[in-house]
Amino acid sequence: MRQTLTLALSKGRILDETLPLLATCGIEPVESPDSSRKLIIETNRDDLRLLIVRASDVPTYVEHGGADLGVAGRDVLLESRGESIYDPVDLGIARCRLMVAGPTGSSLDIPRPRVATKFVELARQHFAAQGRQAEIIKLYGSMELAPLVGMADLIVDLVDTGNTLRANGLEPLETITEISSRLVVNKASLKMEHQRIGALIEDLATAADAAADNK
Ligand code: AMP
Repeated sequence: MRQTLTLALSKGRILDETLPLLATCGIEPVESPDSSRKLIIETNRDDLRLLIVRASDVPTYVEHGGADLGVAGRDVLLESRGESIYDPVDLGIARCRLMVAGPTGSSLDIPRPRVATKFVELARQHFAAQGRQAEIIKLYGSMELAPLVGMADLIVDLVDTGNTLRANGLEPLETITEISSRLVVNKASLKMEHQRIGALIEDLATAADAAADNK
């Protein structure tokens, strides 16, 4: 019997923007992952199922074989990269920028700024690469609050439209890197199931190219 392949996804933008790519490849979930409380969703392909996990857990599931494939933001991959994971395709979805932001009118030119972020490694690398000292404060969400309550001078966060920053009296100051989501693959799975996973990688790459051309 053929082994069922598992694709790990997170709810939100990644799921919303991956489903049309899967549909282009002829893959449809049998129920809506958005409205279902199930964490494993079957698809119309009896050898492929979807696993709904937290965005930051996708690389862990793929690295440890809980999923054969996954879709993960480049931010998450850069922050927590495993050894046994391939990221062969930029799907071009869930695009945004990782940015340094601060209170409107503020300057980047602060000696040893306190920087609130959940991207501790990326923030550390960014400031180190510029030879700037910074005190990095780890948060798990709502980084915008930290400058408002005087806990940090700057934040490092994902920015898309900039509306969240603006709504909280902040503005983008510096782009660290462009972010989009990538298809990630467990190396052992790829070896064992080279044909099926290889075909899926190729189909999704073609679907992502076509979607990019239509934009
Ligand atoms: P925006 O207000 O459109 O700039 O979106 C910013 C908010 O959405 C922040 O809380 C970000 O952490 C989050 N966000 C924006 N783009 C993404 C993305 N591609 N992946 C995950 N979170 C995102």
